[in-house]
Amino acid sequence: LVPSRRRLVVANWKMNMNLASTRKFVKDLVVTKEQCTVVICPPYPLIYPLNELVNENKSSITIGAQNLHRQDKGAFTGEVSADLLKELDCEFAIIGHSEVRASGETDEVINQKVKKALATGIDPIICVGETMEQREQAQTNEVVTGQLLQALTDVSDLSRVVLAYEPIWAIGTGLSATPDQAQEVHQQIRATLLKTFGQVAEQIPILYGGSVNQDNAASLAEMGEIDGALVGGASLDGTGFSTIVHAF
Ligand code: PGA
Repeated sequence: LVPSRRRLVVANWKMNMNLASTRKFVKDLVVTKEQCTVVICPPYPLIYPLNELVNENKSSITIGAQNLHRQDKGAFTGEVSADLLKELDCEFAIIGHSEVRASGETDEVINQKVKKALATGIDPIICVGETMEQREQAQTNEVVTGQLLQALTDVSDLSRVVLAYEPIWAIGTGLSATPDQAQEVHQQIRATLLKTFGQVAEQIPILYGGSVNQDNAASLAEMGEIDGALVGGASLDGTGFSTIVHAF
């Protein structure tokens, strides 16, 4: 019997929100469904106050980071270590987001970050996805498979890995992939994972990200290979984000 996969809805706040809007978000968020893990990834300085708010409100929110550094510590101005994130109760970290890849992050660095996260007790949420040009040239599978296999090179604890398929053309554009388009890529990812890693691949959740909102969440959630969502713009409002969480 295949153990059932985790379902997660992850908020990627990017460079948005402040103390006041974080307080309001926690008040407005209504999470009741226990089968779905809700992860909020705020800007770094909001991690500590968000954690306090979660504890005060006995909220079932789990906290994640938007990135982490591949090295343990040292002279890396502006960076944040996995150890510090873990100390602040981050259980997840987004790794390889296309907005970070765009500033020059390589597949090799992403692989090192994935290993650092796992070694620190943080579950990596690894993002992969193609550009519109690559999709039009029928390179989606090749691009996504390449990113995924490089990110997972020599990774031993696959049962703690989370993947997010985020087509770059769908991020922040309002143009979500259709449920069928997303399902098709998720199926290809699952097939690649099974072929490469065997049965443990069944345990890896594959989230969809790219213009997920209150209106399209339910139809995406219906697809058998979509195990959750990574949400940017529509994750900034607690009430609206609750609706997306409940769809999964
Ligand atoms: P979006 O962002 O929901 O605003 O498209 C998703 C993401 O970048 O993770």
